[in-house]
Amino acid sequence: MEKHLVLIGGGHAHMVTLANLHAFIEKGHRVSVIGPSDYHFYSGMGPGMLGKTYRPEDIRFATKHVVEKQGGTFIRGKAVHVEPNEKKVTLKSGDAVSYDVISFNAGSYVPRLNLQDDAKDIFSVKPIEKLMEAQARILELTADKKITIGILGGGPSSAEVAGNIWQLTRDAKGNMPAIKIFAGNRFMSRFPENVRSKVQQSLIKRGIEIKTDSYVQSIDAGKVILESGQSHALDFIFLAMGVKPNLIFRNSGLPTGPDGGLLVNEFLQSIEYPDMFGGGDCIYFQNRPLDKVGVYAVRQNPVLYHNLMAALEGTPLQPFDPGGDYLLIFNLGGGIGVLQKRWLLMEGKIAFKIKDYIDRKFMKKFQALEQSMIIHSG
Ligand SMILES: Cc1cc2nc3c(=O)[nH]c(=O)nc-3n(C[C@H](O)[C@H](O)[C@H](O)COP(=O)(O)OP(=O)(O)OC[C@H]3O[C@@H](n4cnc5c(N)ncnc54)[C@H](O)[C@@H]3O)c2cc1C
Repeated sequence: MEKHLVLIGGGHAHMVTLANLHAFIEKGHRVSVIGPSDYHFYSGMGPGMLGKTYRPEDIRFATKHVVEKQGGTFIRGKAVHVEPNEKKVTLKSGDAVSYDVISFNAGSYVPRLNLQDDAKDIFSVKPIEKLMEAQARILELTADKKITIGILGGGPSSAEVAGNIWQLTRDAKGNMPAIKIFAGNRFMSRFPENVRSKVQQSLIKRGIEIKTDSYVQSIDAGKVILESGQSHALDFIFLAMGVKPNLIFRNSGLPTGPDGGLLVNEFLQSIEYPDMFGGGDCIYFQNRPLDKVGVYAVRQNPVLYHNLMAALEGTPLQPFDPGGDYLLIFNLGGGIGVLQKRWLLMEGKIAFKIKDYIDRKFMKKFQALEQSMIIHSG
């Protein structure tokens, strides 16, 4: 019997499902993919795009093309609400789509404190496609005068964005900005001391200032106010204060983890609704909370693909094993990376080259699929 599979978001955990969409259709099912953009941008290369190491087309997947070429339907839009008893998802446009099985890979967002979405010269590190606008604006401002750029937040995305703004402005040969990271009371606090200090030294050596005396309290026109009462004038602000799962689950009253992510069991399946699945930053894995890194989203791919097919076909589900340690490599701009895996720690050009190789290989694998679909479809 024909069933309708609906995918919300074409993120990292849906890559294998998207690549095999034809398999669902060959079995007589319908597939619809809902996403706000025709493309999905690979976040691991986002800071490198900001620094102009990569072009936007180097780091994006043609989601719409891949879906349509396999006989699926792509709906450009944002899912905002799910009604699990009616098996219906509502989009921002007001349209509703019904499903038999649904899977969420709708990612996460950066909380914006007290700010409007369109506040002038204030950008978030996500969505990645917005980094292109940020890049253009930084180049425009630094062409005219020396400015101060503040990056609010002290995690890895903050470090990567700071290093890549440094690369961008150095290469543009305009006025080098002052770059300041506001890292609360400790920079890269969830990382081991040796990793923290390598990243910190690499940035400080290039004149990037890292402030660890107080948390950010609020942002006002052109300045940031810290909890300590200090304020700092800033011409351009990046928000990088950690990410939170997509709000759709809380807004729909679904069972969620403490961070608001869709609460899923070992099968990446909602603990309450057996026809609802998810992967990546938007879920909360019940067995153990997972870091919000692309590595887990990528590891979830084959299980999610298997389980979506199994849910449609009524066959057994597979459990997800998050696996052990993962390789960490930060792109700090200027061709410099910091790499860590277990006891191994490396800083320099080789570390960046390894990241560049892995990331390009990942992109090539899925972009090759887009090409082959162009050829096969004539
Ligand atoms: C600057 C930066 C650098 C990073 N670098 C690395 C790295 O080097 N390595 C690493 O492992 N991790 C890295 N991360 C973490 C990594 O980005 C995330 O863990 C990863 O993106 C999670 O993948 P995802 O598919 O769940 O979410 P996303 O990549 O955010 O994808 C979600 C998708 O859902 C779509 N979507 C969003 N809302 C909706 C909606 N309402 N309806 C429908 N579709 C929607 C979006 O358009 C997007 O295509 C980085 C994060 C940032 C911010």
